[in-house]
Amino acid sequence: MNSEIVSNCLMLGFDCKRIQKTISLLGLDAEHGKHAKRLRREFIEGKTEALVSSCFDSFAICEDVLLIKENIGIESFKEFWIDYLCGFGQNFDTPKYFEERLGVAVAWAHKKVPLGVLHLQLCLIQQALVDSLSTQCKSDPKTLWPLVDCVFKITSLSVYLTVEGYHLVEADELQKTFDKLSEEALKLHQKVAIDHLTGVLSYSSLMDTLERQVNEAKQNGSPLCVIMADLDFFKRVNDTYGHLVGDIVLKHTAERIQAAIRGFDMIGRFGGEEFVIILENTDLALAKIIAERIRKGIADTPIHAKKFDIDITISLGMAMLRKDDHPEILLERADTAMYEAKKNGRNRVVVAGDLESAH
Ligand code: GH3
Ligand code: MG
Ligand code: MG
Repeated sequence: MNSEIVSNCLMLGFDCKRIQKTISLLGLDAEHGKHAKRLRREFIEGKTEALVSSCFDSFAICEDVLLIKENIGIESFKEFWIDYLCGFGQNFDTPKYFEERLGVAVAWAHKKVPLGVLHLQLCLIQQALVDSLSTQCKSDPKTLWPLVDCVFKITSLSVYLTVEGYHLVEADELQKTFDKLSEEALKLHQKVAIDHLTGVLSYSSLMDTLERQVNEAKQNGSPLCVIMADLDFFKRVNDTYGHLVGDIVLKHTAERIQAAIRGFDMIGRFGGEEFVIILENTDLALAKIIAERIRKGIADTPIHAKKFDIDITISLGMAMLRKDDHPEILLERADTAMYEAKKNGRNRVVVAGDLESAH
C-alpha cells in the first residue's frame, strides 16, 4: 500500500457509487449545495478570519496547540481553516472534494497532528457558524433551520472524511510493519531451512520435504528413491588437516553431490558428514546411475581445501519407497544399506532391495 502513488479515494474505495452512498447516508442532497452557497455568500464571506480566530481562542487553552505550533505553525493552521470556510461545502458531492479532504487528513496525520485536534476544530467551527447564524436569523426560522442543517451535515462529512484519512495512514503504517515482519519471518525461515555450512537443506526441512514427497509419491503411485550418503573416514580429515579444512571438504562434497544430481532432486544434510538425496519420480535403475555418479564425482577428483588436495570417498545406501513405508522406515533402510557399503569396503553403492534378496 502506498498512499503517495495511489489516490486516497481509490485506496479507501471511494468510487462514485460510494461517494453517492455516503452523501445520501448523511442526508445531503442538491438542496444543501444551494444552502452552502448561500452560507458562504451571506454568512461567511468577509468574516472568515473572525470566525477562525474566535474558534482558536477557545482552542488555545488546549495542550495540543503546542503540537500545532511545532508541526504546522499557528498561522498556517489558521489559514487552512480560513480556506476551509471560504470553500465551505462547495462541490461536496464530487470526487475532487472527497480527494481533497482525504488528502488534507493524510497530510496532517503524517505531520502527527492528533485526530482529536482536527475533530475539535471542526466542532468549534460548526459551533461558531451556528452561533453566528442564530444571531443573524433570530427572527427568520425559515432561513435559519435549513442553513443550520447544512452546517451540521457538511461538518459531519468533514469529520467522516478526516477520520477515514487518518485510518488510511494507520493502515499504511500497519502494512509497512506487516511487510517488515513478513520479510524478517522469511529470512528466519530461510535461515532455518538451509544448512549454513553446505547450503543444502537443513535437517528439519529435509525431513519436511521427504514427508511431502513420500505422500505425493504414494498418492500418485510414482516411484521414489532415497540415498543416504556418508563420507568415508572423515574423522581422519579433521584429525589430519584440522576442523576448518574438514568444513571446506563438507562444503565441496555438497557441491559435488549437487553437480551429480538433477535440478529437481533434493539434497539435505542429515548429520555431520551425512547427506540424504531424495529422487522423486525415479525408479531403482535410474537411482543407481545417479548414486554411482555421486560416488564417482567425489572419488575421482581430490577435493581442494586451503592448500591441500584431499582424496576422499563416500559410501551410499539406497532404498526405494514401498507402498506401506513411512519416511523414517525408508530412511532406515537406506541407512542400513549405507552401513553395508561401509562394511563391504566403503566407496560403493548398496541398494536396500539387493541386500534383502541376498539374505
Ligand atoms: P566412516 O567411514 O565409518 O563413516 O568414518 P568417519 O570417520 O567418517 O565417521 P565417524 O562417525 O567416526 O566420524 C565423523 C566425523 O565427522 C566426526 C566429526 O568430528 C566430523 N564432523 C561432523 N560434523 C562436522 C562438521 O560440521 N565439520 C567438520 N569439520 N567435521 C564434522
Ligand atoms: Mg557418519
Ligand atoms: Mg563417515
